Amino acid sequence: MAEQMTRSRTFAIVGAGIGGLTTAIALQRKGFKVIVFESARAVKPLGAGIVLAGNAMKALQAIGMDKEVARAGRELKRFAIKDVKGAYLNTTDAACINQKYGLVNTLSLHRAGLHQVLLEALSPGIVCLDKTCVDFKQTDQGIIELIFADGSTSKEENVIACDGIHSMFRRKLVPGSRIRYSGYTCWRSVVQSNHLCIEEATEMWGTGKRFGIVPLSGGRVYWYATLNATSSDSAIRNYSIEDLVRVFSDFQNPVTKLLSITKTDQLIQNDISDFIPLTRYAFRNIVLTGDAAHAMTPNLGQGACMAIEDGVTLANCICSGENVESAFRLFESRRLKRNTRMVNASYSLGKLAQLENRLLTRLRNQLMRIAPERVTEKQLGFLYDISFS
Ligand SMILES: Cc1cc2nc3c(=O)[nH]c(=O)nc-3n(C[C@H](O)[C@H](O)[C@H](O)COP(=O)(O)OP(=O)(O)OC[C@H]3O[C@@H](n4cnc5c(N)ncnc54)[C@H](O)[C@@H]3O)c2cc1C
Repeated sequence: MAEQMTRSRTFAIVGAGIGGLTTAIALQRKGFKVIVFESARAVKPLGAGIVLAGNAMKALQAIGMDKEVARAGRELKRFAIKDVKGAYLNTTDAACINQKYGLVNTLSLHRAGLHQVLLEALSPGIVCLDKTCVDFKQTDQGIIELIFADGSTSKEENVIACDGIHSMFRRKLVPGSRIRYSGYTCWRSVVQSNHLCIEEATEMWGTGKRFGIVPLSGGRVYWYATLNATSSDSAIRNYSIEDLVRVFSDFQNPVTKLLSITKTDQLIQNDISDFIPLTRYAFRNIVLTGDAAHAMTPNLGQGACMAIEDGVTLANCICSGENVESAFRLFESRRLKRNTRMVNASYSLGKLAQLENRLLTRLRNQLMRIAPERVTEKQLGFLYDISFS
């Protein structure tokens, strides 16, 4: 009876990012009606790459989406951390870990390819574009009125807020939550580079800066570079490719080669931020998920992975919950600890990776060199221990 009642409901999802789209697919595949409101005029993801680890791929497998997503990506078998000269500091055998923990292959993808696959999995007409939700009213009668920038409104029985790190819903429901700048900024790009033959995903750690290289399918390479910067330094944020060549000139190739084939207008620059983990995601018939609930720094490459896990878990909670409010609370209890741990671990890893003191950097590198692979695996063991039910 409870299940029948919930299945007749429509779930309003705000935000058509990776989290919102995955949640919509998961709910639709369980027979629920969904509608997605997205502020952008077209779903145009950043021209950057993304890595989906085995845990996210397992979540996608649970909703029958792993094969479609895998077709748009490329398997990543190994991930290495190196120093600026290219000497190995640490390696992670992703293929071996995925097999050991019953996960699915880790993938690298172009974000546009991932969005395309997710959008195509939804029935047409479900995503309403150019709908920026600017406010909402939650009534005691259980109705939420969404108010849009174009002056229109929509009355909903429940809302899943997937509106990203600057979430309007979070700002209103948790007014004390503030964005926390990490202390470093980041540039990203995707370039065609068949001639460089890059097979391995690597991150090179310097002093107060890092350079990451991820092979994509079709001979493309996704690279990202981080640099410590004060929040007020606009000159650094406007760096051209020539500036980046200068800043990363002490890094071993293929860094300079990758930068030399990138144009300044192909750069995407973002400050890296998160916020102190929340203690609540469920607010009666509104629930926060993905970056709206737990934005994290990208040091573990798990932000989108957690948004995907959230979507799949939420759909399962809705199926087993007696009503929407209890389903949202169940979701909160199942996800809070894991997401919080991921935010904190990511934040700490970023501090270590962006160390600026040369002595401490040398010590860090020495320790990483001697730490056996199994130590890293143990530290990150929680990452692989998942259940979506
Ligand atoms: C440099 C960098 C590298 C990263 N690399 C990885 C990686 O390799 N692997 C990984 O797992 N994660 C990675 N992440 C994190 C990942 O990008 C995010 O965690 C993920 O995109 C969050 O998805 P989301 O759907 O919750 O939010 P978003 O992707 O931010 O989507 C939110 C959507 O909501 C829409 N929206 C916002 N406000 C409103 C509104 N008021 N009304 C209507 N619509 C609205 C937005 O337009 C957007 O489409 C990285 C992040 C950064 C910054």
